[in-house]
Amino acid sequence: MDGSCRQQFYINIKRILQMCRLKEVKWMNQQACTNEAYVPTIVEHVANVFTHGIWIVPAFLGAFELIERASTWPKLLSALIYGCSLLLLFTVSTIFHSIHYCYHKGRFVHLKDLLHRCDRAMIYVFIAATYFPWLNHEPFQGDVLLPTMRILIWIMAAVGILYQQIFHEKYKWLETTFYVIMGIGPSVAIIGINEYNNIPELKIGGLAYLLGIVFFKSDGRIPCAHAIWHLFVAIGAGFHYQAIRYHLYPDVGAPLLAPGEQHYTLFAAGDSHPEF
Ligand SMILES: [Zn+2]
Repeated sequence: MDGSCRQQFYINIKRILQMCRLKEVKWMNQQACTNEAYVPTIVEHVANVFTHGIWIVPAFLGAFELIERASTWPKLLSALIYGCSLLLLFTVSTIFHSIHYCYHKGRFVHLKDLLHRCDRAMIYVFIAATYFPWLNHEPFQGDVLLPTMRILIWIMAAVGILYQQIFHEKYKWLETTFYVIMGIGPSVAIIGINEYNNIPELKIGGLAYLLGIVFFKSDGRIPCAHAIWHLFVAIGAGFHYQAIRYHLYPDVGAPLLAPGEQHYTLFAAGDSHPEF
């Protein structure tokens, strides 16, 4: 065996040993007791930070694009509220998981608790803010549900946050149920509007959130379950962002309708609906 072959042999052996070491990595901890928070492993901490941290810059750019495309004041308000909440969702989550990872040995307990509460509260704010652009416009003729829901969605978010602050880490299934009710409930108002009907990105995004809940509730059962939940959130947010960008903030100068795609757009050509 010459020098270079020997060197390659040692490299291969080293690689095999490193792969064996993967089995030694602690991928997850035991499930938390009732009313207690799950303690992630180091690998899970890193995965939690990474899986939301990578979306901060795209969220900022996405928010900026909507603000740029806003052609009216209501659209600008919607873009600001939705864009800021999109950015905050990933930023608050990344800060919380970073602090949780850096001080996982028990320091800064109060700071971690505060950030955890903010992280959970952001879910309610983000759900309300995602619906807001669809609800914040001139009411369609005869429709009272949409303008009512525009206000109701923020009341629901406020109630959800209040409940979550009072019963933090208690009755976790009830908390998840609130998320689902708030996530699905307001869509009833949107489904009733013909112009919003049959938007595939909205359905796929909603489905991603629902599937993600399986992992949200699987800490200690599935390795890196919370990080996987983060990815489902990112997928859901991505599809919903595309739906908002394409249907509510079409490119300036671009035609609103693609040939034969009337049901994907807000207004049919020649309609006299006011701009919102
Ligand atoms: Zn998280």
